[in-house]
Amino acid sequence: MIIVTSHDNIIIGLEIHVQLTKLKTKLFCSCSSKYRGAEPNTYVCPICIGLPGSLPVLNEKAVEFAMKLAIALGCKINKSMYFFRKNYFYPDLPKGFQITQYNKAGGKAFGDGGKVIIKKKSGKKEILLNRIHIEEDPGRLVHKGSIVSSPYTLVDYNRSGVCLIEIVTEPVINSPEEAREFLNQLKSIIQYCGIADLDLEGSVRVDANISIKGHARSEIKNINSFKEVQRALKWEIRRQKNFIKRNKLLKQETRHWDDSRRVTVGLRSKEFEKDYRYFPEQDLVPIELKKSYIEKIKNYLPEMPNARMKRFQNQYGLSEFDSEILVMDKDIADFYEEAVNSEKDFESKEYKLLCNWLKGDISRWLNLQNKKITDTDLTPIQVVNLVKLIEEGRITGKIAKSVIGDMMLGTPIKKILKQQGKKRIADEEKLSSICKKVIQENSEIIKDYKTNPRALEALIGKCMKETHGQADPKITRKLLLEYIEK
Ligand SMILES: [Zn+2]
Repeated sequence: MIIVTSHDNIIIGLEIHVQLTKLKTKLFCSCSSKYRGAEPNTYVCPICIGLPGSLPVLNEKAVEFAMKLAIALGCKINKSMYFFRKNYFYPDLPKGFQITQYNKAGGKAFGDGGKVIIKKKSGKKEILLNRIHIEEDPGRLVHKGSIVSSPYTLVDYNRSGVCLIEIVTEPVINSPEEAREFLNQLKSIIQYCGIADLDLEGSVRVDANISIKGHARSEIKNINSFKEVQRALKWEIRRQKNFIKRNKLLKQETRHWDDSRRVTVGLRSKEFEKDYRYFPEQDLVPIELKKSYIEKIKNYLPEMPNARMKRFQNQYGLSEFDSEILVMDKDIADFYEEAVNSEKDFESKEYKLLCNWLKGDISRWLNLQNKKITDTDLTPIQVVNLVKLIEEGRITGKIAKSVIGDMMLGTPIKKILKQQGKKRIADEEKLSSICKKVIQENSEIIKDYKTNPRALEALIGKCMKETHGQADPKITRKLLLEYIEK
């Protein structure tokens, strides 16, 4: 096995296909685009299965959505453009061609250029984009088991004609980790634009072009999650380096990422652009975009994550690190702002505390349950109450942690505490007897403490256990120290 140490000679370019899942209908017909969970081949009409004589009509909302993304990514929007036919023969494509945009032969993409800024240990890096364009999704092929070993294939045209945005980067990504970070940032921007929910199954597909400097590149097709992109890239880099080390010639080819076996497999040698015989789609009129229309959409766009991050630092005194994590998921950031604006007398300490609970225990619970904050019954005011109770010294952080689960299910914190009879113990007399008992029972730890002061933490932990997490940690620490020193 070869261990990849330097990323400098790795060249990666990505093509990301994003379904505009917030659109109600498909790109060129009035079929619903909410096909998930539907019976196969029920959301279809003559247009999206390409019957002769049917005529496509462009979904205006799709243009608006593409525009939002183009503005957010800083693309140069082309004001006049038309669609092309990309011809190829495949069972998921009933017309024998895909309606898409093309940036050659007089054609133009929806938007050229643009960038996404990612954070690296060594600083920030701009991932430059080549273009973004609109196109239709083909149908869906369903293989029994793996694509390689499946005895038959089924086809479902419900997805056929759903609107996609393709985002093409320049080949400027130098490692699988950079690719992942770029995709995370892109996902966040798309969420802020309100055009797609990329957590929906099948809403995202990535093709990755990858090569080692000076050698032929391969294209890994149809990787269907951002996490898998990083895995597939890692695997493919290792394969290519192995080839080069053994002096074998790499050929330009299309490969498939088999996510159950976690390997890439060769599918066919790569098509070249001329194989697609692009030509203008004569059944659709050209798109003409007025400057006033672009301005109007621009004004509708919400604040983007980068700007919001800076505002969070200024307005709430959060660190760059904290605000960056907080704004990444728009729902979490919205929740945070609703919480801090629910009371006038919020102090700077509480801004930070609220942020910590959201990015810490609450996010952890959401990840474990695979839920979004909007799927839960937790309200911003409840988190404010939690923070206030801690600040007023009425509960300990430990108690707070123990009630998060119930709070997420909608039970108000004060009710939980009343039911469980939990509150902070700050009474020194009561704590004294507990501390003494713990010291008596743990002479080994006391001995250890003489050479290792950190052993104190173990004693505090014992006191917490005695009181079911209700002992005030500060007072407990003070008392323990007093008695040990004696
Ligand atoms: Zn249709």
